[in-house]
Amino acid sequence: MKRLTILGSTGSIGRNTLQVVREGGEAFEVAALTAGNNVDALLDQALEFRPALLSVADAARRDELAERIAQQAGDYRPEIHHGPEGNLASVISTDPDIVVSAAVGVAGLEATFEAVKLGKRVALANKEVLVAAGELVMAEVARSGAELLPVDSEHNGVHQCLRAGRYEEVARLILTASGGPFRKTPAVELAGVTPAQALNHPTWKMGNRITIDSATLMNKGFEVIEACRLFGFAPHQVDVLVHPQSIVHALVEFKDGSVVAQFAAPDMKLPIQYALFYPERRDGPAERRLDWDSMRQLEFEPPDWTKFPMLGLAYRALEAGGAAGCVLNAADEAAVAAFLDSKIPFSALARVVERTLEETGSRRASSIRETLEIDREAREIAARMVEESSVRVGS
Ligand code: NDP
Repeated sequence: MKRLTILGSTGSIGRNTLQVVREGGEAFEVAALTAGNNVDALLDQALEFRPALLSVADAARRDELAERIAQQAGDYRPEIHHGPEGNLASVISTDPDIVVSAAVGVAGLEATFEAVKLGKRVALANKEVLVAAGELVMAEVARSGAELLPVDSEHNGVHQCLRAGRYEEVARLILTASGGPFRKTPAVELAGVTPAQALNHPTWKMGNRITIDSATLMNKGFEVIEACRLFGFAPHQVDVLVHPQSIVHALVEFKDGSVVAQFAAPDMKLPIQYALFYPERRDGPAERRLDWDSMRQLEFEPPDWTKFPMLGLAYRALEAGGAAGCVLNAADEAAVAAFLDSKIPFSALARVVERTLEETGSRRASSIRETLEIDREAREIAARMVEESSVRVGS
């Protein structure tokens, strides 16, 4: 039985992970669950899985959770923590075999880095870990021997395709993108799209931030950075192809021209199960199988770089290296929050990110602490850019 810590258990990936745990029967024991603000959901999960440790974002929520557990949970008395220390404790003090990194943004960065330092298997959904601190994380993976197994469906697809050949035989990786809800929207209409329209993803059900990032293609930009860090390829060896059906998740082109692709239903439980059980393959339920009888058409087209400038910004940050990925992520998160709050229009998202990147210049971080400091500064600059953009919108 493997012991599991889930960072961000109440989110979309976290819930899907717990479903895989349910389906796994005796395969897993939940050692720790951590979340942000959703005490109701964490309480339900705690009562079902009875982990030894729980953690939430702040002290007030910790007190609320402790009180409700005391009232409702009989003799079950987990340790209850809060804040970054709580996330760290979930990785260190419960000694899990596998850490599922599924908190959103940089919230889980320190704890994920700690899991890598301790040489754990990390099932990595949180792409910000490699976007913001990829060079540091991969250096630590090399030192500690930690196993980093991608949960992000495209990287999970690449991981599977790479089993068909050797590293030096690979010509390039191709990550597919659904194209998001605005694939066919004329560029001139993008300024007026609402958060509700942007949250209406055509093929995947995900958390809010990643859904907006899919609408701008920034999500694909992050994934390009993630792929370069994770698999050790140069930026020019990672390409993006729009594939609206989201059935082919990744392709690996080998030197001889052969292409190996990974096909799967768009269901995150599949890559999660792969990462938890690797190198074994487990039976999956029938509804997770592709329905080849109804599949008529698979389309592929190049991305529109002009309409979706975030993709180009991500390549720029990747080429710049150092802390540019950290700034890119922080500025994007701030811009997305402002868009969801209706403070800036969709069309201003890229401007906020670009100007934040320009203003921060080239920075390097030699530790996770420094990365988080640069992240904080970038958010302050992005907040200023948001103010300037919202003035322009309102005037
Ligand atoms: P959600 O917004 O659905 O969930 C985010 C999770 O993070 C929630 O459990 C949230 O808790 C938790 N969280 C927030 N703050 C903290 C904190 N301080 N400490 C611990 N946990 C915290 O996001 P998703 O599940 O969609 O995405 C999670 C990560 O996985 C992201 O990095 C995303 O890019 C990546 N990813 C997601 C995919 C998907 O299909 N959803 C696909 C590929 C990658 P609470 O709800 O209690 O506030």
